[in-house]
Amino acid sequence: MNHKTVHLFSVLLLLLVSCESSQPEVDGILVSKVAEFDEAVQAARPGDRIILANGIWTDVELKFSAKGTAEDSIYIVAQEKGKVFFEGQSNLKMGGEYLHLEGIVFRNGFTPTSSVISLQQDNDTPCNHCRVTECVVDNYNPSERFDTDYWVEIYGKHNRFDHNYLVGKRNRGVTLAVRMKNERDRENYHSIDHNYFGYNPILGSNGGETLRIGTSHFSLSNANTTVADNYFEHCNGEHEIISSKSCQNVFRNNTFFECQGTLTMRHGNETLVENNYFFGNRKANTGGIRIINETQTVNNNYLSGLTGHRLRGALVIMNGVPDSPINRYFQVKDSKMERNLVVDSDYIQLCAGSDEERSATPINTTFRDNVILNSRKKDLFTIYDDVSGITFANNQLSPGIEEPVYAGRRLEGFEDTDITVAADAKNVTLPDGTLIGPDSEKPMPDADNTGVSWYPRQDYQIRFRSGNRIEVAPGENTLFEAMKTVEDGDVLVLQSGDYLSTRTVEVPNTVTIIGADANAKPKLTFERSPLFSLENGGSLDLENLRISGADADDYSGNSVVRTSRYSMIDNYKLLVNSCEIIDLDVNHSFNFLKVYKNTFADSILLRNCTFSNISGHVLNMDKEIDDAGIYNAENVVVDGCQFTDVGGSAVKLYRGGRDESTFGPMVWISDSSFKNVGNDKRNKNESAIHLHGIQYADLSNLTMEDSRKMHLHLIVGDPVIKLSDINMKNTETMYANSSAYSAENVTQRIGSD
Ligand code: CA
Repeated sequence: MNHKTVHLFSVLLLLLVSCESSQPEVDGILVSKVAEFDEAVQAARPGDRIILANGIWTDVELKFSAKGTAEDSIYIVAQEKGKVFFEGQSNLKMGGEYLHLEGIVFRNGFTPTSSVISLQQDNDTPCNHCRVTECVVDNYNPSERFDTDYWVEIYGKHNRFDHNYLVGKRNRGVTLAVRMKNERDRENYHSIDHNYFGYNPILGSNGGETLRIGTSHFSLSNANTTVADNYFEHCNGEHEIISSKSCQNVFRNNTFFECQGTLTMRHGNETLVENNYFFGNRKANTGGIRIINETQTVNNNYLSGLTGHRLRGALVIMNGVPDSPINRYFQVKDSKMERNLVVDSDYIQLCAGSDEERSATPINTTFRDNVILNSRKKDLFTIYDDVSGITFANNQLSPGIEEPVYAGRRLEGFEDTDITVAADAKNVTLPDGTLIGPDSEKPMPDADNTGVSWYPRQDYQIRFRSGNRIEVAPGENTLFEAMKTVEDGDVLVLQSGDYLSTRTVEVPNTVTIIGADANAKPKLTFERSPLFSLENGGSLDLENLRISGADADDYSGNSVVRTSRYSMIDNYKLLVNSCEIIDLDVNHSFNFLKVYKNTFADSILLRNCTFSNISGHVLNMDKEIDDAGIYNAENVVVDGCQFTDVGGSAVKLYRGGRDESTFGPMVWISDSSFKNVGNDKRNKNESAIHLHGIQYADLSNLTMEDSRKMHLHLIVGDPVIKLSDINMKNTETMYANSSAYSAENVTQRIGSD
């Protein structure tokens, strides 16, 4: 079909379309099949509009290769925004010049290739001067957590990616990557602006960056990419929200709302970070800006309510590696941190990462004219090494903040101030006219002025008890039957009485199971292991239940709760409140929780529970043994629990490898007792509590009696370990490997604050 007939065809379609009153008129070439699309693209001339028909396009791989001109782009647009969906195994590749893509949605599926939208048709055809605007990628993930893909890859030069909404990337791989493999991808002057980067849950591994520009390999080349006016919301994939790995990038006027991690200048020089807003709202691990390398400028940013420490503090300047290889840490030189406004944030970290390898301290760097206010914490500064290469001048601290000290000497360049900032103000002008914080002339990016207006915003947080209450009568498999109809947030209410399950109860979504009477808890027994299987998308909240394993089949390796055997792309929660767990001992290695590889708990909480007569472990989370910095649970809380006659460990958690990209695992164990725990001969780690490679542990008010040891194996990072009121009777002493927490030291800390 030649160009004319395509037009004729589209006119016919127009006529057809205009007969149907529900369809709007289209000005261009309407296509509803891939073959039509291909023909239209082939015939496309500058100024043409190819219109993707409303509806669901399934398993479609579009190739948009054409050449527009500076005056007239070639357009591919949705017939109606919010009505054109690409589902199944679909993707889109663009290549050429002056192409414009607008208004399509990817959902309900995943890309069969390495990216969803690629601004490169093939190795010979990158995009130059192309634009992708008002597109949506929504939870477009494979089922395998560690299958890697990008959602968007930008190649070539002078491309614009703007007003898009990217939400719910859950597998490994960067959400949006600027690639620099070839010369023609460098000095690219791309603009990434006005996008809404939505929820990106914790990956539990390196490789969960929301945005990356370059890679270490090409990091000494200029990228010249500008990232401006974007909104980042709950981008928690890993500790680099943004990983800048190239030179001369600009990050200006972006908002980071409750994001775990930092904007990191991981590689490359001459980066400008200015006028950005960081709101932590006291959420865990929220960070700000991290400087590595040379000639970096971090000016006039606003940072508030950030709690992250170490590599994810509010402001971080790192140590480097002398003569660093390209993929390690270059020394910080000739860099500036100036006129930033830091409010109620917990940590400012200088010479962060200092260790035997990272021994090169920052040089010729300035930290000046910053205003740092804090009404909640006094010791904000951590100085890990010699800061004599940093010039400090005219920094203003609210009264009460301790001036930073290195080697017993107070650093010059800090003074008390009576400056206050109104609750809703994001900057302050000093009496001499100096502006501290962002220039508020430009609107601050938020959920309303970024992304698209026509696509619904989902709430991806797991919310228990937000749905219907469903009564479930005692009896055989009543729970199994009830679970078939539950929806997210529903609560199954059990009366006093016996509930026998002869079949595994699969948990497909966010469900609460609660005993109606706390004083006469319903009793749950089960023949087939496990009692509950968490399927992908499932989360479980148990309360006021008595669960017995006495009727379970006489096999080893049973469990009460088990994750899916297969990869879980969704993180899950398991909450257990006021439950009695008894007699998991028909055979050996009977666990309360058993997890599989490639599954990840956002949180596990045991509160006011008793566990007794258990032949295996209570919480067994040790399936990521590749030592790649991957692990099975982010937050583990045990509070007010009693463990009695447990053959394995009460808590066993393993994170191996020396990768520093994750926040967790984090563990809190408090007000709990352990009696005869860990003594089974099959308990190979010979511990009552076994925490390997954790990043945070707070253990307080614990009583251990006739039990095996508490074992902390600290291997990476700078773990925060808090121990208090740990009482041991006829129990091995605590064992820890690091010098700071050697067995001796730990013993000394026991019983003290
Ligand atoms: Ca990373």
